[in-house]
Amino acid sequence: MNNSRNFSAGPGALPLKVLDEVKQSIEKIPELGISILGVNHRSDWFEKLMQQAEENLRLLLSIPESYSVLFLQGGSSLQFSMIPMNFLRGTNKVAQHIVSGYWSSKAPKEAIHEGRVNIIWSGEENHFTTLPDLNQLCLDTKSAYLHYVSNETVEGLEFHQNIENSEIPIIVDMSSNLLSRSIDISKYDLIYAHAQKNLGPAGVTVVIVRDVFLNSSVSTLPSMLDYKTHKKANSIYNTPCVFSIYVLKLVCDWLIKDIGGLLNMEIINKNKAALLYKTIDHFSDHFATHANQSYRSNMNVVFKMHDLQKESTFLNFLSQRGFSGLEGHRSLGGIRASLYNGIELKAVEDLCDSISEYFR
Ligand code: PMP
Repeated sequence: MNNSRNFSAGPGALPLKVLDEVKQSIEKIPELGISILGVNHRSDWFEKLMQQAEENLRLLLSIPESYSVLFLQGGSSLQFSMIPMNFLRGTNKVAQHIVSGYWSSKAPKEAIHEGRVNIIWSGEENHFTTLPDLNQLCLDTKSAYLHYVSNETVEGLEFHQNIENSEIPIIVDMSSNLLSRSIDISKYDLIYAHAQKNLGPAGVTVVIVRDVFLNSSVSTLPSMLDYKTHKKANSIYNTPCVFSIYVLKLVCDWLIKDIGGLLNMEIINKNKAALLYKTIDHFSDHFATHANQSYRSNMNVVFKMHDLQKESTFLNFLSQRGFSGLEGHRSLGGIRASLYNGIELKAVEDLCDSISEYFR
């Protein structure tokens, strides 16, 4: 019951069916007779599993052959450094960044160690409540790349549009919305996302990169920090996180077989978010969302009570009904309900009913 009511921002709830399969695999993988936690990463079984995980991602996201899929470690935070190391260092070009919230603010702070950085849009003055129109930005076509975050996990802001630009490389941190909806991969040169929102447990970070872009990296780097090392070694240069990749594969199986693909997942996710926003708006005498209406995230619903002193009583009331993970990020406070793929519509209905009950 409580797993189905885990609204944590990350690591987030996994689909209940996947959790059941995982439980059994910790005891033993039927065809191997041993626990997943003791499977050798150089075994034929694991090599095949990696291939299946990649094939699943390719199928779900329609990833073209001209892109590589890498399974890395170090979380999305390491990508903040690896990206400028590989694509900015030594180029004499500028890295362009959109700063739209907590996480996108972190990326340029790492890029600055490798070269010049230009923040082309910042939402800081508006306390990160809005986003820019991606297709109205004034982009420098000679820059190394544009970096942005497609869903700001802390503030609950999501870009609901694709970027239309083929003149400069586009790099996107999709940590909190990859696999939550369908996307057109061909619009991007590098996408990265850690697993612990919609893909699986923490440990593995997926990088989807256009090969031409990957090969354009000129820096000489320590092996582990060089994308080319991981491409060449099929993501088994060193010991990968076997368990996380195994669960990621199961999550993709579930998305393909039980949900029927990302178009269906997107509809479910939109319905969940619409329901919760409707309830919050209904009780607008008590609540306000952080994000302006047009940029509200379908993944992280961030809101606060007008009377901040009542928040802990409200959260306690929900906690007594088995709901967890609803506290806002430590930098912002308030309330945050994360509606990742593993959260079913029924759980959101129950949450909305409990909110209504609280004000009855
Ligand atoms: N980017 C986004 C959008 C995130 O939500 C987070 C963490 N929640 C990160 C980056 C950092 O990820 P990690 O903890 O895997 O380094």
